[in-house]
Amino acid sequence: MRLYNTLSRQLEELPPPPGPVRMYFCGPTVYQRAHIGNARPFVVGMWLRSWLRARGYETTLVHNITDVNDKIYDAAPGASAELAAAAAEWYLQDTADLGLGMPDELPKATEAIPSIVRFIEQLVDSGHAYAVAGDVYFRVASDPGYGRLSGQRPDQVEEQEPNPLKEDPRDFALWKANKPGEDTAWDSPWGRGRPGWHIECSAMAEDAFGPVFEIHGGGLDLVFPHHENEVAQSLALGHEFARLWMHNGMIGGLGGEKMSKSLGNDVSLRNVLDTWGAEVALMFFLGAHWRKPVEFGDEVLVQSKAQVEAFRNFFLDERPGDEAGEQILEDELAAVLDDDFNTPEALALFHAWRDREEWTSLRWGLGLFGLGSLAEVAEAPAEVAKLAEQRREARDAKDFAGADRLRDEIAAAGWEVRDVAEPPGYRLVRRS
Ligand SMILES: [Zn+2]
Repeated sequence: MRLYNTLSRQLEELPPPPGPVRMYFCGPTVYQRAHIGNARPFVVGMWLRSWLRARGYETTLVHNITDVNDKIYDAAPGASAELAAAAAEWYLQDTADLGLGMPDELPKATEAIPSIVRFIEQLVDSGHAYAVAGDVYFRVASDPGYGRLSGQRPDQVEEQEPNPLKEDPRDFALWKANKPGEDTAWDSPWGRGRPGWHIECSAMAEDAFGPVFEIHGGGLDLVFPHHENEVAQSLALGHEFARLWMHNGMIGGLGGEKMSKSLGNDVSLRNVLDTWGAEVALMFFLGAHWRKPVEFGDEVLVQSKAQVEAFRNFFLDERPGDEAGEQILEDELAAVLDDDFNTPEALALFHAWRDREEWTSLRWGLGLFGLGSLAEVAEAPAEVAKLAEQRREARDAKDFAGADRLRDEIAAAGWEVRDVAEPPGYRLVRRS
């Protein structure tokens, strides 16, 4: 299995199964409902875990929640802790409703303060950080390799967090003194305050895995400064930290005028799930390579829905006994997924399996991506079945107006009635 590594700028081979493959994927800063773009690292991480486990790897996924941050203070002055707690709950509910299960651990920054403080103390003791007026800054000049991940030259790094008290404009905050209006603060050797963003992830990743692990993931927008600074902090303590860095491409089309009519310009994951359903959302992600940017909007959602329906209809036509003795074509799927986790190629293969009537492999393959529901034929409730029976009787009696009225009633209940040759002469299909 090989994956593209942002750090080495090339495809790299994972160690053979069972690994382990320990993965840390950066999660959201929680102050509002997550939008569909925030869901991409979650989906990529969960799918990769699913596939690695299918290939015999021991895999752990840790996905953090940043629940103390300037954005949260700004969004709820004086009540940031309450907002962060509520928004963390929203994120857990909305991602759970994707139907992919949950990461193995979901640490929160506010629950990792002792580890964060310990980490900063070691950086100060080793000369990689310094305290000034209750803040603590990382000394970028102490790291000659700084810029290794983002490709910036160390002498040309953009200024982060301007503050005239810093030794060097490039230095970034590890600890920030409590300011008026900030309702959360913790004790530390440098006074009351709260952690900087980057140190949280170094501390939480190492709390989970120790000083070295296989994969660190997150959105492409996190390469600089967030991940550049995570690497600098951990290497400064002599830790190897992440061996492979996966950065997912960004979702375009989330702002501006011509957004989504169907969503009323609310591109929250919650609204996408409520309006289009989890299967359509997952199909949208599946159709794009994790590293590439992808445009979001009604057009691609309509296409995704059509694909969802194509697979669902295929399984509705399934006849019993079709799958006796069928093999799972794992090698065909591995040929595309083991090559930089190419999900658009996997989707193309699923369509090919549909054409070739490879029921068993298709059910297995869709299930790996949380789309196993497409292979389940739902049983209609008794009242819908009764309407369908009455409609058949109306048709037999050539009462076509009555039959049409019953068809509409069935549709209103969320079902479609299709006429087929075999008894009882119709089939009920759930509308997604
Ligand atoms: Zn992070």
